[in-house]
Amino acid sequence: MALSYHSQIIEPWGRTPRLPHQVARPQHQDQLPGLIAEASGSGGLLAAGLHRSYGDSGLNPDGLMISMRGLDRFIAFDPATGVLRAEAGVSLDEILRMATPHGWFLPTTPGTRFVTLGGAIANDVHGKNHHRAGSFGRHVRRIGLLRSDAGGLELSAQDRPELFHATLGGLGLTGLIAWAEIALAPIPSTFVDEETVPFANLQEYFRLTAESDGRFEHVSSWIDCSAGGAALGRGVMYRANWSPSGPLTPHAPRQKLQVPVTAPPGLMNRLTLRAFNAAYGGMQRRRQGTARKHYGGAFYPLDAIGGWNRFYGPAGFYQHQFMAPVETQQDAVAEALRTLSAAGQGSFLAVLKSLGPLRSGGLVSFEGPGASLALDFPNRGEATLELLERLDSIVVAAGGKVYPAKDGRMSAATFRAGYPRWRELEALRDPLFSSRFWRRVTHDQ
Ligand SMILES: Cc1cc2nc3c(=O)[nH]c(=O)nc-3n(C[C@H](O)[C@H](O)[C@H](O)COP(=O)(O)OP(=O)(O)OC[C@H]3O[C@@H](n4cnc5c(N)ncnc54)[C@H](O)[C@@H]3O)c2cc1C
Repeated sequence: MALSYHSQIIEPWGRTPRLPHQVARPQHQDQLPGLIAEASGSGGLLAAGLHRSYGDSGLNPDGLMISMRGLDRFIAFDPATGVLRAEAGVSLDEILRMATPHGWFLPTTPGTRFVTLGGAIANDVHGKNHHRAGSFGRHVRRIGLLRSDAGGLELSAQDRPELFHATLGGLGLTGLIAWAEIALAPIPSTFVDEETVPFANLQEYFRLTAESDGRFEHVSSWIDCSAGGAALGRGVMYRANWSPSGPLTPHAPRQKLQVPVTAPPGLMNRLTLRAFNAAYGGMQRRRQGTARKHYGGAFYPLDAIGGWNRFYGPAGFYQHQFMAPVETQQDAVAEALRTLSAAGQGSFLAVLKSLGPLRSGGLVSFEGPGASLALDFPNRGEATLELLERLDSIVVAAGGKVYPAKDGRMSAATFRAGYPRWRELEALRDPLFSSRFWRRVTHDQ
């Protein structure tokens, strides 16, 4: 029987909205052209990876979806150079398990390894080393792209450079990424020497960052959202370099804990937030100093708990991640923290990091230079949406941008202010490909 599309409810990582989709799950490359042909005349097509995007950039309820996860083969790997070619459905988890024993690591990695190669390219993801390595797209050498209007194309910075760069951070809109070739980064061991450094407020954070970015490859900070006044923006910085020697062992294959059911509504309320921030902040401040850690624990602490997004209860949650340029970053971050404190809606996970000046060439990539702040909020309906819009206004006034991979509700005006080159992506979009996000932010063009 020919492979086709079947009904399925798809939810993004924030678990809102959960919407019915028509999804096909190919296992072989030669099934892709038929699925693309079948989609013509539908309400549009979108590829999916591991659904780790928080909002609707990975949703396409009015059209069809091809889950690329079954296309998970390694095509070629050279342990002498670290150049890897793989199908787009391979996960970063699988790449690390294969490559780390040979002394190679991802050139940059998001805070979860449960992301596909195709998804990492489509959102041009970044990690704690953006100030050194830039975003993922900078390390992509070649892409095999399937388009509804042009068939199979091989793209690189030399061959069809416009389409190549548009596909980096192209939100899956330039066609199906069938495979990609990336350059991995050499590592001397799979351990990092990580320093934990508390800071008293935002001024101290920016001083510490300026000093740390030159000396450390991996830098990110947790902010205590319950602190205000002179302690606004207090938190803990984690800064690390690869240990110069040590074993080359991949991470453990299994997740240690699983969240079996969705938490009851209201678990993540103001009281638990204050208690969490006090307990976590206190624990981390006591831990200050240097420790040798495996990359699994240092880069992917949340991956130890499978399905942690269920903690936020049945209504799900929103993440708001923004970037403010260097000139406005300090004021914008302070204003954002004051705004959420005034609204009585702090964030459990507030992560502040700096984005450096290196660019991938993506048209709507989430890039710097500047400061990036990521905040999580339980979905409390209108009250949460209003708060997120207030945060958007701060970002737009600061000349910054909100990250589409984390978004499910920003206005067209907010998106266009942050990504003035969006029309260039629209011009290179495969006419068959679309997403709920893209329709929302470009509907009145
Ligand atoms: C715990 C956690 C931590 C995170 N930390 C970070 C971080 O530090 N930095 C960061 O940048 N991001 C981070 N993210 C976001 C995540 O890295 C991105 O959303 C990533 O793109 C998800 O990849 P995915 O495989 O799940 O793709 P999906 O979420 O399924 O899809 C994402 C996009 O990729 C497109 N796509 C997927 N596969 C293909 C393909 N083969 N061809 C064409 N388009 C395709 C989809 O159409 C969609 O537009 C984090 C997410 C989580 C849950």
